Amino acid sequence: MKITELTGQVESHLTKIAGNILVHHDVVCPFLALQKMAKQAGFNLQIASGFRSFEHQSVIWNNKYSGRTSLLDKNELPLDFTQLSELEKLHTILRWSALPSASRHHWGTDFDIYDPSLLPQGKKLQLTCMEYQPTGYFYELSNWLSDNMQRFGFYRPYQTDQGGVACEPWHISYQPIANDCLKALTTTAIHDLIMKNNVLGKSLICQQLPMIYKQYICNIN
Ligand SMILES: [Zn+2]
Repeated sequence: MKITELTGQVESHLTKIAGNILVHHDVVCPFLALQKMAKQAGFNLQIASGFRSFEHQSVIWNNKYSGRTSLLDKNELPLDFTQLSELEKLHTILRWSALPSASRHHWGTDFDIYDPSLLPQGKKLQLTCMEYQPTGYFYELSNWLSDNMQRFGFYRPYQTDQGGVACEPWHISYQPIANDCLKALTTTAIHDLIMKNNVLGKSLICQQLPMIYKQYICNIN
């Protein structure tokens, strides 16, 4: 893939499936096969979030960096933003949100999944661990995925918390292509793109890029 595709600047690697959701051309068939199999098992497997552009990821990032969106601590509780140093703020955001240009959602190989028919009436999808844990309404779906998705090439890059990105049981990835994407993504490309765009905290980000690359981008299951 071209670096503009890897960093979410263009959509040339993507195909539209179900509404406005974009995924990588070569992931359409494996995903539809997984979805069909899920249906036979009684689940309505849907993508809550597929491709996200550099621009979209920058809005998410800047809203968190400026304090407009609340930051969460390890227990998914709101954090007092004003008490954090700049570096602590960076780590806190990176636990939950990828750096624009380094989100796996840019690739179209990774999505956040759920089953809308399992959501209790009046409940909105939150994408929290609670929903996917034994007491949560997506637990059985999550178990089914653990048992079956590998056959279709999918896995969870954020299966466990390894001190980088928090555990995200809802985030699945099409491994054959995603592995190549990760290998092709360079810190030079990330650095250039961050510096060229309106990304809050960019000098600190670029200064900390070797750490970010190691702890948050490559540190997957
Ligand atoms: Zn995700």
